[in-house]
Amino acid sequence: MYDYIIVGAGSAGCVLANRLSEDPSVKVLLLEAGGPDRQREIHIPAAFSKLFQTPCDWAYYTEAEPELENRKLYWPRGKVLGGSSSLNAMIYIRGHRKDYDQWEELGNPGWSFADVLPYFKKSQNQERGPSEYHGTGGPLNVCDARCVNPLSHAFVDATEELGFTRNNDFNSDSQEGFGLYQLTQKNGCRYSAADAFLRPAMQRSNLKVLTNVHVSGILFDGKRAVGVSFHQGDGSRQERVEREVILSAGAIGSPQLLLLSGVGPASQLRQFSMPVVCDLPGVGANLQDHTTISVIYECLQPISLLNAEKLPSLLRYMCFKNGPLTSNVAEAGGFVRLSSASDVPDLQFHIGPSYFKSHGFETTTQHTFSFLPTVLRPRSRGTITLRSTNPLDAPRIHANYLGDPGEIDLMVEGVKLARQIAGARALTKFRGRELFPGDDAQGDEALRSFVRKMTETLYHPVGTCKMGTDSMAVVDAELRVHGLERLRVVDASIMPLVPGGNTNAPTIMIAEKAADMIKNGRTTKKHEDQVLTAS
Ligand SMILES: Cc1cc2nc3c(=O)[nH]c(=O)nc-3n(C[C@H](O)[C@H](O)[C@H](O)COP(=O)(O)OP(=O)(O)OC[C@H]3O[C@@H](n4cnc5c(N)ncnc54)[C@H](O)[C@@H]3O)c2cc1C
Repeated sequence: MYDYIIVGAGSAGCVLANRLSEDPSVKVLLLEAGGPDRQREIHIPAAFSKLFQTPCDWAYYTEAEPELENRKLYWPRGKVLGGSSSLNAMIYIRGHRKDYDQWEELGNPGWSFADVLPYFKKSQNQERGPSEYHGTGGPLNVCDARCVNPLSHAFVDATEELGFTRNNDFNSDSQEGFGLYQLTQKNGCRYSAADAFLRPAMQRSNLKVLTNVHVSGILFDGKRAVGVSFHQGDGSRQERVEREVILSAGAIGSPQLLLLSGVGPASQLRQFSMPVVCDLPGVGANLQDHTTISVIYECLQPISLLNAEKLPSLLRYMCFKNGPLTSNVAEAGGFVRLSSASDVPDLQFHIGPSYFKSHGFETTTQHTFSFLPTVLRPRSRGTITLRSTNPLDAPRIHANYLGDPGEIDLMVEGVKLARQIAGARALTKFRGRELFPGDDAQGDEALRSFVRKMTETLYHPVGTCKMGTDSMAVVDAELRVHGLERLRVVDASIMPLVPGGNTNAPTIMIAEKAADMIKNGRTTKKHEDQVLTAS
């Protein structure tokens, strides 16, 4: 019998597996639907989009998106040890301090920026050294890029020319301005959550990791989670647990598993003739994501990442772990506040020396560069719902992108700002024709149409098992599922609001904090008493 069963070896699951198994007397089982992270492309930073639509990608699609010309958008998610941290773009960003203060204001004590900063630092090994905001000696290596493309330096110069601040550290006092991103890499290779947290713990005899195991449901005894059922090979198995089941299956997998187990909106469960274990209307609701769009230019000099896969750079990578293959593609970027009403940035930029269109599926023979303006604080909300009761069927994803009218205006403003940056003197010697949206797209109507045609995900779905105390909350501030015992959700799905930035570091922070809460076991008894009283 295991003390803890963790479902999903992604960003959060790897942290939990490591931290919980630090105590040799505690037995931990980690179950992952994907396989081991052996593919070469996982480890070579610039190759990440080559992993899309392969066996280590769940390759989800949204339903037809009404504001995006009814397009069904592709959503890559990691199905492999490390989860999405094994195929992400490696940008290390925490979000704005006010994001976390807001989480706390929403009824989640212990989640203010001052409370979570120690967990960001605990997880981190900042190669620049320790500081008020950064930790060293933690498992997750965070570093500057080894090989920065000259275009990326020119982008930052261009933004400075337009009056934006040059920011050398987005995870410190101020997030605003432009600069080069720091990365979760080590020695020129990706450093996923599996590299950082799981691999060092794999030798422990009290941690068992099973791959290619698809968890199909949570087993309950009344309101108490007592184990999980899963498919392994051709068979079905069950495993029971002594202390807790912890769902870390991500913002799509965790709500799907709760629904499949009879935990969710009673009306939806009845529609599928499923017994209702716990009526929790918020399961699968509150879906938030960052939208983005590619503004692409021809590059007049042969310096983009176009030749990154050619023999010389392959050799340079293999021999010295350096050169263009160490690029995370979106090398530079920044945070801007366009709305005067906002006291935090409302747009993020990702800028790359490459052709980033249709997730990298569409290619070109030209040298190009791309700007990706990104809406940071969307107001629209989507849902994850069951498609069927078959655990192997993907759930229905209604992202409801640009459902709030302000979002399309912000995307249009982002495209205009990308054009201004591209027009700066610092980029003159590189800038060729504008390929997208193209010179014909002038005026707000034309740009709105471009946005509807070309908006894509920036891969940050969160919020579908949100933490809080209101009627739509799924977990409490200790990430225990409301109304049930011995069941937690620990991953990106618990975020009540998407942070203003990339979501990997925040997810790792969540898992670090959850591990401490679980180990301290502070209020488990109190929570169980509350559940008993309520039922
Ligand atoms: C292409 C891409 C680029 C990105 N770029 C960045 C970036 O540059 N910087 C950044 O900060 N963030 C980035 N992100 C986002 C970031 O990686 C995620 O927010 C983060 O990894 C989410 O962690 P998680 O633990 O919630 O989920 P995941 O890491 O997705 O982990 C969930 C795990 O659960 C497993 N699982 C799911 N269902 C089951 C089941 N039924 N049974 C067993 N196992 C199951 C999955 O296979 C997976 O391993 C990117 C994401 C993608 C996809």
